[in-house]
Amino acid sequence: MERYDRQIKYAHFGMDGQRQLQQLRVIVMGVGALGSGVAEQLVRSGVGHITIVDKDIVTLSNLHRQSGYVEADAEEMLPKVVALQRHLQAMNHDVEVIARNQEITAQNIIPILEQAKPDIVLDGMDTFDMRYLLNEATRKLQIPYIYGAVVGSQVSVLPIHHEGPCLQCIMPEVPETMERCEINGVLPPAVHMACSLIVAEVFRYIMHGTLTSRMTSVDIYSGKMRTVDVSALKEPDCPVCAHQHYERLDHMPIERVRALCGGAFQLRLAPKYFQATLQPHVMIGIENPYVKRLMTQGYEMTLYQDGRLLIYGATRIDEAERLSQQLFVDVPD
Ligand SMILES: [Zn+2]
Repeated sequence: MERYDRQIKYAHFGMDGQRQLQQLRVIVMGVGALGSGVAEQLVRSGVGHITIVDKDIVTLSNLHRQSGYVEADAEEMLPKVVALQRHLQAMNHDVEVIARNQEITAQNIIPILEQAKPDIVLDGMDTFDMRYLLNEATRKLQIPYIYGAVVGSQVSVLPIHHEGPCLQCIMPEVPETMERCEINGVLPPAVHMACSLIVAEVFRYIMHGTLTSRMTSVDIYSGKMRTVDVSALKEPDCPVCAHQHYERLDHMPIERVRALCGGAFQLRLAPKYFQATLQPHVMIGIENPYVKRLMTQGYEMTLYQDGRLLIYGATRIDEAERLSQQLFVDVPD
């Protein structure tokens, strides 16, 4: 307990709080800037068990704001959860860290949550589609969760108790200012502010057994901070929390081809393509058990072990499709 002495001395927390934190199970859904920062604070504080889930690899453009990663992770093209698990265990080997290197989808989100058995779910997602999906899944399983988002210098943190209003009640439409970070830019101190607000809410949850019902918004640049009580915002006709109608969980498709921010396309191939023989004109840049960086015809591509293929620099779907069809000699059965 000596390593936690300073937080135990905080009167509201104390030895009781520490013991409860060491029993707590959390899952962090997405470990980009928010998720990795939240995971670090919780692991250093001595949380009992943490599951981290993400599908992406570490890139150099992550490092300015994502405190869980270092340059070597990007150079090795490590999956975020693999790199983060390594760093988290080096920070505190007493914490059980489970890493799940996979995409979160409507088909697997319920099994992922059921397997992790979290007391509380922490949102590290970077799109609203995924946040609404998480809202439905946590409501269906009756698990509290904490929403967090950062755009530019603006931070929003919203604890969502499974009996109170849900995300759909409070934000029925995607907020206009909350497009993806590639478009808007993110100021690193705003990320750290959001992480701290989320982890503070986890601490209060331990001490009081429930989440607060306040949404906190901060603009780290102007210094303006606002808290709003959301407890009265439950919509009597909300499809999710009033009618248990889980549109995304039941019907959200997995897109075969998708345009990504920053001029790239993502295609889905069968996972067996990861082991397929490549055409002689395809060069392999970096390769590890999780991804391969491919180069051909002036394009760079990343092939993931689950069959996702990211093609950078392609401007049209048919161009991306054509390139993907010219990569392989044969595919294993
Ligand atoms: Zn609702």
